[in-house]
Amino acid sequence: MNFCSQCGKPTHYRVPDGDNRERHVCDHCDTIHYQNPRIIAGCIPTSGDRVLLCKRAIEPRRGYWTLPAGFLENGETILQGALRECHEEAGAQLNTPSLCGIYDIPHISQVYVFYQGPLSNDDFRAGDESLEVELFQEREVPWEALAFPVITLALEHYFADRQATSSGVRSATVSRRLR
Ligand code: ZN
Repeated sequence: MNFCSQCGKPTHYRVPDGDNRERHVCDHCDTIHYQNPRIIAGCIPTSGDRVLLCKRAIEPRRGYWTLPAGFLENGETILQGALRECHEEAGAQLNTPSLCGIYDIPHISQVYVFYQGPLSNDDFRAGDESLEVELFQEREVPWEALAFPVITLALEHYFADRQATSSGVRSATVSRRLR
């Protein structure tokens, strides 16, 4: 951020009085522009032993496969955001979604939250941000063509936990970068 969104004057990156972190500060109108991690809400839609993946139609990572997920909007719960993304990107709806994973990605200041649940029907289709939408068994997943490390991790956890008797919520910090 180079210019203040309140008054348009240049901002400075420094520690404000009484703070202990650098922020974008406007010395003209005294606004401190806080920047905090963004939340990405996503789904792991399932059908029997298969999971639904979307081939990205947009950058970054166009042409790579991902789970339906996107930035949470203001006024939305994380579950609402996850279901909205599932509908927008895959035209799909979930029955009984349950929280399954929380992934911190501090080096890019993002937090992913995933819900899993069975598709309510097979009536899915590619939305505007997807080239294709398809169901994959574990051995069919295009592991080498997944869009982001967090997607790989969430899918690994899903398949590892699928046989488990107790359903828990996974949490992890994602530090690995794209190969
Ligand atoms: Zn200002």
